[in-house]
Amino acid sequence: MTTLIFTYDATPHQIEAVRRAIVGEGAAEITRMNGDRVAFLVDDPAGLVHFDRMQQMPGVESVLNASDKNRAVAEVTPATRLESGIEGLLVIAGPCSIESEEQVASVYERMAEEGLRYVRGGAYKPRTSPHDFQGRGAEALVISAEIARDFGLEIVSEVMDPRDVELAARHVAMLQIGTRSMQNIPLLREAGASRLPVLLKRGMSATVEEWIGAAEHVLVAGAPVVIFCERGIRTFESITRNTLDVLGAAALKERTAMPVIVDPSHAAGRRSLVVQGALAGLAAGLDGLLVEVHNDPASARSDAAQALRFDEFSTLMRRARALRAALAEADLYERKR
Ligand code: PEP
Ligand code: MN
Repeated sequence: MTTLIFTYDATPHQIEAVRRAIVGEGAAEITRMNGDRVAFLVDDPAGLVHFDRMQQMPGVESVLNASDKNRAVAEVTPATRLESGIEGLLVIAGPCSIESEEQVASVYERMAEEGLRYVRGGAYKPRTSPHDFQGRGAEALVISAEIARDFGLEIVSEVMDPRDVELAARHVAMLQIGTRSMQNIPLLREAGASRLPVLLKRGMSATVEEWIGAAEHVLVAGAPVVIFCERGIRTFESITRNTLDVLGAAALKERTAMPVIVDPSHAAGRRSLVVQGALAGLAAGLDGLLVEVHNDPASARSDAAQALRFDEFSTLMRRARALRAALAEADLYERKR
């Protein structure tokens, strides 16, 4: 879809001339929008219309492709490359929820040993039922940030309420926006205004285009970078908790220079499939991982079934490093030929 916007003072005669030119070139359909100025939504799936020529016609203000309307996502190159755990990749891992000081200290110590820079931990938990553990809120955020600092780490944590952003921004390296909040526009704006990197999960029923629109809100509001995180979408398939859309994420990488990472934990829903999902994402050229790890998964107060044990996380890291090295070697070989 292409949007052709007329100037405020375009005459009916000029508008009609443009309409005739578009029809003449064979566009499938034109929808006229009559706001405070006129716009045409032009459906031209066969690519027959020369929009560069239309742009020059009297009365035409601009021509926007649906794909390049979100300019910040398409054109901004993040100034710094976020790296954690594996060279050239952004691996963020830790518990679903911050439960206790002992739990967080135990997990973060291990994550530091694995070479991570960023760890996760939810303080405000968006639970499906109000009768489940809701997270320990601000207090948890402050404590876990302190513990992380002791291990030379920084935390990534979810905010659900725009009123919590200011406090959270003082303790986290990145703000996480969850799948349920992807289109909460006031929250996107507030998170962007913090000027911190924002990890934006894909809405469980959102298209990639809608995800791009959400990221544009965050960037326009002031964030230096959005880390897109594919965490699985709702489909008819129920054998996994969600369907990991690896190709959707890969397609997104054709549209932006922002990092695109994968969360295999919330897609899989159970620990036996987390490593496979992580490797699939990395093999597809994605930029990193968000993984749930717990010191004692059986006792986890949220997402227990999908939390990796320490030894399983080590296996994941070892295999991810090997995959990364193999791909780099293959590229080197290709360049030498
Ligand atoms: C989480 O990361 O723990 C979480 C709640 O994720 P999502 O928003 O993807 O469900
Ligand atoms: Mn979780």
